[in-house]
Amino acid sequence: MNRLPPFESSPAFASEEDRRDPLGIFRDRFHLPLGADGAPIIYFTGNSLGLQPVGAEAHVLEILEAWKTRGLDGHFSGPSPWLNYCEDLNSKVSVLVGADSTETVLMNALTINLHFLMASFYNPSAARYKVLVEQDAFPSDRYAIRSHVEWRGCDPENAILVLRPRGDETLLRTEDILTVIAESGSEIALVLLGGLNYYTGQLLDMEEITRAAHEAGCVVGFDLAHAAGNVALNLHDWNVDFAAWCTYKYLNAGPGGPGCIFVHARHSADSNLPALHGWWGQNIADRFRMLDNFAPARGALAFQISNPALLSTAPLKASLELFEEAGFPAILEKSRRLTGYFEYLLKTRIGEKATVITPGDPDHRGAQLSIRIHGGRDVFETLKSRGVSCDWREPGIIRMAPVPLYNSYSDVFQAVEALDDVT
Ligand SMILES: *Cc1c(COP(=O)(O)O)cnc(C)c1O
Repeated sequence: MNRLPPFESSPAFASEEDRRDPLGIFRDRFHLPLGADGAPIIYFTGNSLGLQPVGAEAHVLEILEAWKTRGLDGHFSGPSPWLNYCEDLNSKVSVLVGADSTETVLMNALTINLHFLMASFYNPSAARYKVLVEQDAFPSDRYAIRSHVEWRGCDPENAILVLRPRGDETLLRTEDILTVIAESGSEIALVLLGGLNYYTGQLLDMEEITRAAHEAGCVVGFDLAHAAGNVALNLHDWNVDFAAWCTYKYLNAGPGGPGCIFVHARHSADSNLPALHGWWGQNIADRFRMLDNFAPARGALAFQISNPALLSTAPLKASLELFEEAGFPAILEKSRRLTGYFEYLLKTRIGEKATVITPGDPDHRGAQLSIRIHGGRDVFETLKSRGVSCDWREPGIIRMAPVPLYNSYSDVFQAVEALDDVT
């Protein structure tokens, strides 16, 4: 099922693929940054900051206009009243992560949300107090977890259990994760892992990990910053307890775009779950009644604290419209083929000079390939100067992510050609 049709290493093949690409039309729906020569650069950093959808500006201006002309009334009137602005966006995001519409909510920013979610879902006791994390976790997650563990009065040296790859391997094996959970599960309060690792590009088997962790009595959360909008997710059916992600990577919300959380429906009726509340989490009928009593809104909505930052949410609306128009399954299908083509060209053109550390199995990765370059940092600098936008991670990894909504097969071909020239 995962077999890709044969590829060819020629510019003509890449152009023909672009011509036949049913999603090719979406490239023009984004602003592609231009290089010194006035031509679009090859943008392979959508894993860090997705490009601006052309429709974003109008959505931002609409809010500014409503504010300018209506003031406070913008909450209740105009083309998109602010009070309900996020409802439709929440439900469009929920589709992309395999959640019911009551299980996701846009709020705050990612790391902040990790803190709020840990306040609810990390409940250490004398016997069960550990947090299981992966060695290559994104630094912000590590700082958040460490500080949160200290905040709860635990010693991080003892309470943080780190998953490491075997020997000189770079990727985690599912069987090893399951073994740690089986052996130490009774001490683990929370399993909190990056669903798709930002550094290696490895996609974890979240369903299997969740099942094993629940069997051992642990709570399970995932950071999906690099997974949301990039790979197929089924958070509800996988029975994940909670998740958090940002919307400015594959979801193209722009710098500082809103965070999003998932809380499984089975927790929404759980009044024993501790939570830090604010007025925006009050049930909607009572939100503006300024009552003493807090009666939570339905589902994940109860976790909202403050009224949402709509100026930074508006661009997301444009992006989610494109996801809906293109259809997520079609986007995922193109992504597999595009990244498959990228990997094929790297193998046939670059060979020994670069090693892809991301899993070769398309079921265990998304758009991004992390490439160990033998030429060092100079290669990255030269690539950049040749109009290939990628990033460098010590000690020698270049991350490149062809994004199916706006990157083309010709982008991939030209990027590999540039890499071939400079290695
Ligand atoms: C991008 C990213 C972040 C960034 O956190 P913010 O709070 O949005 O600044 C955190 N964690 C992971 C895993 C990321 O990939």
